[in-house]
Amino acid sequence: MTDNFSELPQYELDPATADLLPLEYCLEKSVVILGRRPQDPGAPLTVGCLSPADPALRNDLSTRLRRPATLVQLNPWEIRHALERVHALDLQVEEPGVERVSAARRISFAPGQAPRDILADTLAEAIRAGASDIHIESYPGDVDLRLRVDGVMRQVQTPLAPDNVTRVVSRLKVLCGVDFAEHRRALDGRFTALYEDGPATRRVDLRVTFQPGPHGEEASLRVLDRSRFILDLDHLGMPQGISKRWKSLIRYPYGLLLAVGPTGVGKTTTLYASVEAFRGDNLKVVTVEDPIEYEFLKVNQKQVAKAMGFADWLRTFLRANPDVILVGEIRDAETAEIAIRAATTGHLILSTMHTGDAIAAVGRLRALGVPDDFLSDVLVGILGQRLIRKVCLKCRQPHAPAPELVAQYYEKAPASGFVKGAGCDQCGGSGYAGQLGVFELLTHDPAVVAAISRGVPVEELRNVAIARGWKPLVEDALAKAEAGLTTLEEVARKVPPRFAVKA
Ligand SMILES: [Zn+2]
Repeated sequence: MTDNFSELPQYELDPATADLLPLEYCLEKSVVILGRRPQDPGAPLTVGCLSPADPALRNDLSTRLRRPATLVQLNPWEIRHALERVHALDLQVEEPGVERVSAARRISFAPGQAPRDILADTLAEAIRAGASDIHIESYPGDVDLRLRVDGVMRQVQTPLAPDNVTRVVSRLKVLCGVDFAEHRRALDGRFTALYEDGPATRRVDLRVTFQPGPHGEEASLRVLDRSRFILDLDHLGMPQGISKRWKSLIRYPYGLLLAVGPTGVGKTTTLYASVEAFRGDNLKVVTVEDPIEYEFLKVNQKQVAKAMGFADWLRTFLRANPDVILVGEIRDAETAEIAIRAATTGHLILSTMHTGDAIAAVGRLRALGVPDDFLSDVLVGILGQRLIRKVCLKCRQPHAPAPELVAQYYEKAPASGFVKGAGCDQCGGSGYAGQLGVFELLTHDPAVVAAISRGVPVEELRNVAIARGWKPLVEDALAKAEAGLTTLEEVARKVPPRFAVKA
């Protein structure tokens, strides 16, 4: 910044003059009315902004102010401090990157609340509900707050409105330490919420994306609440047979083990629970992740960055010769190649892939250039998974699903009882509470391995696997519906019947 840096002290900030422009407008455009120089009361109004030469801004200001204005350049910090002083706006944070949130907070509709209170109430509500994401969305004349709970979006009534959303999002930007004057590009930031529940304080990390929207400020917050991780392979909902085999597969001295499925189905949780199972084994375990969602004691964890991707970290790890390497995701040919090489040279590689099911993962690895003989050599197991909602135990009742729905999954309807939740206070009327994994496990059965090394196409491989006793995950999902743990309607939302093997 040039000598303009010293503009600010020359002006008397006058709240009455500053009010000629609404605060929301000032925050959105990063402008502030600086008042007049005391020694020059007849001079035109002076407005501080980021780029005085911007013709659109000049036009807009002269229309709104209906009087001549002189534009001077200020930096974002100066604009923020001038706005804070003149509007008594409280965007200050006590500890950079940290927000203390009392569990006793409730969303309040009291008029004139400070942005910090609206934000803290929202965070308390989201953490209490076990939300995985918080979305602030601006529409014409309206602002929505939605939480993702158990994988489903839920609308929440809040005092967020077009006339305060910029202040609340500005507070969020200050917390994340990002430039609150930037409205033209998407920004990423993060902060930590300390959730104070009686004598206990829980650390919850939030990764925030700010997006400029056509109708105002928008932000998405990913809630990384470590206390919600299940780190026990016995509590993920795996059928007993799969759980037993997976536990033996992770003891292999070398090879490739994958957890596959779409985004948000618990693949990371499976790998974390597997890493936790190594505790006390005197193995050297390293991870490279994006992001690190849970910090383990005595596990060397690395975060992917621009300069160091999955492949770069893998190469670095190999020189240190660890026993087990967790690679957050295999998504490119380079990572696939090094992961396979690591698996052939005495390391156990745990990773995830975004594929529909376990068999499709074989096709994806081939597409990434992994030769069939290497793949058949290192493949230890592929776990396919999905998350389904559990029926609410408080309002669960017997239920007969629509015959057309039953017919999509069964040639002959099973005798045992399907259920549904009627909806109650406990489950917010949804009939569901919590989530449960459904699984399939493809292991290195000799016939499957031989088929992969012969380059058998994926569809044929599926038949080979089924002939050898592999059960697609729809079977686990249907077993859970028949056992009254979930509903057939929920299964239909998550697991398409085309994968079903009819009874
Ligand atoms: Zn209920």
